[in-house]
Amino acid sequence: MAKVVRKVAVIGAGPAGLVSARFLYSAGFDVTVFERNERVGGVWVYREIPPAPPSPGAAVYDSLRTNLPTDIMGFAEFPDFTPDRAPTYPTHPIVLDYIERYAAHFKLFPLIRFRTEVRDVVWDEAAAEWVVTVRGEEGESEEGRFDAVVACGGNFYRRNMPVLDGENVFPGGLFRREGEERSVRESKVRRVPSGCG
Ligand SMILES: Cc1cc2nc3c(=O)[nH]c(=O)nc-3n(C[C@H](O)[C@H](O)[C@H](O)COP(=O)(O)OP(=O)(O)OC[C@H]3O[C@@H](n4cnc5c(N)ncnc54)[C@H](O)[C@@H]3O)c2cc1C
Repeated sequence: MAKVVRKVAVIGAGPAGLVSARFLYSAGFDVTVFERNERVGGVWVYREIPPAPPSPGAAVYDSLRTNLPTDIMGFAEFPDFTPDRAPTYPTHPIVLDYIERYAAHFKLFPLIRFRTEVRDVVWDEAAAEWVVTVRGEEGESEEGRFDAVVACGGNFYRRNMPVLDGENVFPGGLFRREGEERSVRESKVRRVPSGCG
């Protein structure tokens, strides 16, 4: 007979992890969210100075605005994206604030273990459970057993700087937007944007 799913681990407290946690919790599951950062929001957590590798870094840059309107980007069950009727294409702090208010509104914070990174997920056939190994704030390793795991770790964290033909003879500098945008803008150097994201 199939085992009843009761305990669920959610990896990540970005938008996808929070939505998963909200619906699983309201359906009666015992939910634990593991988030390696110190706050919710995923890529919408802006860091002026992105942490150096091997840390996952940061994806949002200083001047970022959404490329989707709030009506499309917001969660259907929480339409209060911009209470003060802020722009249809808001800046990143407004998005982060919205995500934090979503988590608070649906009382998700008590479910989240911050500064806890999932390092391994292994299926234990005999027990019919997932063995989830996490690393806590102090570097300590801990194992938990779950009936189901929802992977919401996102996919925009890792820096991907392409190797460009001729970059070794280019006299100027090459930079990625996040973390370096502001200093380059303030230095008033001439810039050539590349990429269409
Ligand atoms: C520059 C940029 C601009 C964007 N603009 C828009 C936009 O305008 N509109 C739009 O709708 N979308 C936009 N996106 C897409 C964006 O990825 C989504 O809005 C949304 O953040 C995806 O949510 P997510 O929860 O899937 O992933 P993420 O936001 O990446 O969240 C993943 C979370 O999982 C955590 N995590 C990952 N691995 C682990 C682990 N092993 N253990 C514990 N925690 C872990 C991370 O710390 C993070 O908090 C943009 C993305 C980027 C990079």
